[in-house]
Amino acid sequence: MVTKIQVEGNPAFARIPPWVQAKLRPIAIEKIQQVYDWIENECVPAERIYKAQLKEARWTTPAIVTELRKKAKAQGLFNLFLPNHFEESPGLTNLEYSCCAEIMGRVYWGAQTLNCHAPETGNIELLAKYCTPEQKKKWLHPLMNGDFSSAYSMTEPDRASSDATQVGIKMEITDKEVIINGRKLYGNCKYNDEMQIFILMGCSDPNNKNPWNRHTTLVVPANTPGLKQVRNLSIMGYDWAPEGHGEYIYENVRVPRENIILGPGRAFEIAQGRLGPGRIHHCMRLIGQAERAYELALVRCYEPRKKPRGKFIGEFDSNIERIAEMRMTIDAMRLVVLNAADTMDLQGNKAGRYAIAQSKIMVPNALLKVIDEAMQIYGGQGLTQHTPLPEIWTYARFVRVADGPDSAHRHQVGRDQMKTAQGFRERAEKYTARYKELCKKWNLEPEEFWGIV
Ligand SMILES: Cc1cc2nc3c(=O)[nH]c(=O)nc-3n(C[C@H](O)[C@H](O)[C@H](O)COP(=O)(O)OP(=O)(O)OC[C@H]3O[C@@H](n4cnc5c(N)ncnc54)[C@H](O)[C@@H]3O)c2cc1C
Repeated sequence: MVTKIQVEGNPAFARIPPWVQAKLRPIAIEKIQQVYDWIENECVPAERIYKAQLKEARWTTPAIVTELRKKAKAQGLFNLFLPNHFEESPGLTNLEYSCCAEIMGRVYWGAQTLNCHAPETGNIELLAKYCTPEQKKKWLHPLMNGDFSSAYSMTEPDRASSDATQVGIKMEITDKEVIINGRKLYGNCKYNDEMQIFILMGCSDPNNKNPWNRHTTLVVPANTPGLKQVRNLSIMGYDWAPEGHGEYIYENVRVPRENIILGPGRAFEIAQGRLGPGRIHHCMRLIGQAERAYELALVRCYEPRKKPRGKFIGEFDSNIERIAEMRMTIDAMRLVVLNAADTMDLQGNKAGRYAIAQSKIMVPNALLKVIDEAMQIYGGQGLTQHTPLPEIWTYARFVRVADGPDSAHRHQVGRDQMKTAQGFRERAEKYTARYKELCKKWNLEPEEFWGIV
C-alpha cells in the first residue's frame, strides 16, 4: 500500500515526534489522517450538541453519537485499538494507534464514536484473546460491531481491590451454572440500556492453597435476575452520563457455566493478559485532553476583552513561563506514552511492564498540573461549565486511580528497582578494589568511599 498523504507540514502529524513518524506505515498514515479529520470536523464542533442532547435524556446515548458511530463504522474507523497481532485487528501497531488515540482524546466522547473507548477496548482485547469461537460469536463480534456495550467489574467496596487476590464476590460453580452473591463497585451503569454484559471477576475457590487459582472470570448479562444496580456513583460530582459508574448487588445471580472465560480458577491468567495496551489507553487520550486545555489557555492569552492592567493575559511573564512549562510537560509525557506503546510492539506486553507503569504513574500526575495551569490562565470562567477544563481535570484525576492506583504501580516499580541494588553494590566494590590497586601503584593511603571499605 502507498499513500499520497504528505506528513510534513500536515497538522494531523504536527505533534508526532520524528522517530515515530519514521516508523509509520502507509496504513497508519491514512488512519491518522482520517481520525484527525473525523475529530476536527465531526466531533469538536458537535460538543455542545452532545451536551444539549444529553440534558434531554440523561441515560440515553445522544443521537449525535449514535449517528456518528454508524458513519465511522462505514468508513472503516472502528476498533483501531486492537493491535495487529489479533486476527480481528484492523491492522495498526500500538505505536500507530497511540497517535490516533491522542487525537481521539481531544473530545471526551470522541473515542466512543470510533468504538475505541473504555472499558470496551480492554474487554474486546480480553474476549479476543481468551474466548472460544462460540463465545466470540455471542459477545466479541457484537461488541466490535457496536451492537451493545459492556462493563468490566472487578472492584469491590469491601476489599482492597488494588490487590486482586482479595476480590471476594462469591461464585459457586455447579455442573450447569454459576451462582453469584456479593457486592461490586464501578463497572458502567446499566441505566443505559445499551450496556448489556458485565465481565465479572469473582472468587470461586476460596480455600485453594494457591491464591492465584481461587478466582474466575465470566460474563453476566445485565438483565439477569438478582443483579441490581443500587445507584450511579458520581465521580467528583459528575455523573458521567450516559455511561456512568454503577454500584451493584448480586443476589443468587445464576449464569450458565458456558459463560466462564478460559475456565474456573483462571481469572489471574486473564488479568495478566489484560495488563497490556488497555492499561495506557486512558493515558494516550489524556495527552489529547491536555492539548485541548493548552490550546484553550493560548486562546485566552489573546482574548481582547480580558486585558488586566491594559495587557493581554499572554503578555505577563508568569504566563509566558507557564505556557512554556505546559508545552514541555505535554511533549515529555507524550514520549513516555509512545515509548510504552513501542516497547509493547517490539518486546511484548510483559517486557513493557515498566514502561506501562511509568506511563500510568507519570502521565496523569503531570497533566493534572498542566490542566490546572490552563484553568489559572482562564481565571474564574476556567472553573465553570463555560469551558471543558473542570471535566478534563476530573478525567486526569480519575486516571490516577482507574486501572489501579498509581501508588500500587509505584510500589511495584520500586520493588523491582530494589532488586537491582545488589548488582550496584557489587559494581561499587569492584571500583573500590581497583582504587586500592591504584593507591598501591601511586603510593597513596586508601580512603573510605561510598561507605565501602
Ligand atoms: C473513574 C473510575 C472508573 C473506574 N472504573 C472501574 C471499572 O470499570 N471496573 C472496575 O472494576 N473498577 C473500576 N474502577 C475502580 C478502580 O480500578 C479501583 O478503585 C482501584 O483499582 C483501587 O482499588 P480500591 O478502590 O479498592 O483501592 P485500594 O485497593 O483500597 O487502594 C487504596 C489506596 O491504598 C494504597 N495502596 C494500595 N495498594 C498499594 C500498594 N501496592 N503500594 C502502596 N500503596 C498502595 C494507595 O494509596 C491506594 O490509592 C474505577 C475507578 C475510577 C476512579
